[in-house]
Amino acid sequence: MNCPRIDVDLRKIRHNTQTIVGRLNARGIRVTAVTKAASGHPAIARAMLDGGAAGLAEARLSNVKRLRHAGVTCPITLIRTPMLSQVDDVVQVCEASYNTEMAVISALAAAAVRHNTVHGIILMVEMGDLREGILPHDLGDMAQRAVDMPGVALKGIGANFACLSGNAPTAAKMQALSILVNEVEGQCGPFIETVSGGNSANLPWALGGRATGRINDLRIGEAILLGVDPITGDQIDGMYRDAFTLVAEVIETDAKSVPPLIGQADPAVAKIRLVPDTSETMRLIFAIGHQDTDATGLTMPPGYTFVGATSDHLVIATQDPTLCVGSEMRFQMNYSALMRAMAAPDIQIRTRNARPWPSPRTAKSPSNHLALV
Ligand SMILES: *Cc1c(COP(=O)(O)O)cnc(C)c1O
Repeated sequence: MNCPRIDVDLRKIRHNTQTIVGRLNARGIRVTAVTKAASGHPAIARAMLDGGAAGLAEARLSNVKRLRHAGVTCPITLIRTPMLSQVDDVVQVCEASYNTEMAVISALAAAAVRHNTVHGIILMVEMGDLREGILPHDLGDMAQRAVDMPGVALKGIGANFACLSGNAPTAAKMQALSILVNEVEGQCGPFIETVSGGNSANLPWALGGRATGRINDLRIGEAILLGVDPITGDQIDGMYRDAFTLVAEVIETDAKSVPPLIGQADPAVAKIRLVPDTSETMRLIFAIGHQDTDATGLTMPPGYTFVGATSDHLVIATQDPTLCVGSEMRFQMNYSALMRAMAAPDIQIRTRNARPWPSPRTAKSPSNHLALV
């Protein structure tokens, strides 16, 4: 079997998506599934769509192209503000994009006119995360300019929380967003179709008892992929945490006792590398490293302790003598480990429990049938 690899259980991704879609739909909110942590892997995107996601969102144009080449035809929104250098491709492969800069919106509009299309604009407003976003007092003006511009259509307003700052959105912030949307509508006319309230960190708010106001969309990645609340790291009720498993192979076992590295210059490093100094402690070296994943974001099976990692090696201590050279070990990944591993060129991705695609209904369409006759 190829190593290192990621085993992906698509049934669990469908289940996680269905679970979140069911809970959010009951609150009047649809789910836009975010594929960026899976590097736009088409089978994973399809599992999200099968699970009821209304559409997909991606941060990178290269991942959007990967999805399109694989035949994914659903609406895809670019959730990172497009680069000026990419606008011609953006309007051809994405229905809409999140935007914060007038220069980019103008360039998208010009590109859309060149390609005889209309590109959807969702304005990203800054509500306190201090990553991307238009300041609330500038929003109405920008919305008006987008409305007046041929080639683009103002489709929505979005906000993002807890990405840079790690602060979860409060009910007051969410209410402020709804009010802002009403104000923009009053100021420049058109009905704002999509109000995208945020990411997985918004789930506690969305599933709490409070009114959801104008928010009718959330962009969900981590919660679907890993089944956890990104702020607390806790499992979400009824969701799988193990849709993804990283598998690495042992390339060396070392039965010698491991001297604890006391007296290291950097106490933080010494702490990480310190392992019990018992003669039975064995070190396992795996052919995987920082170049493949965030090694500190891996969960070891019980009885194994993380010792350290370098660019290409992962060292683990154990008192269990059963693993030998060539043995495989399975790890769970946090978000940081997952997104790096999914993008790593040397990690094979093996999916299972795929549904037939296109769905059986589509495959039996009249034209296919006629072609067979
Ligand atoms: C990554 C991202 C998301 C999805 O975040 P999760 O925590 O994975 O749900 C949503 N919106 C934007 C703008 C993002 O960059």
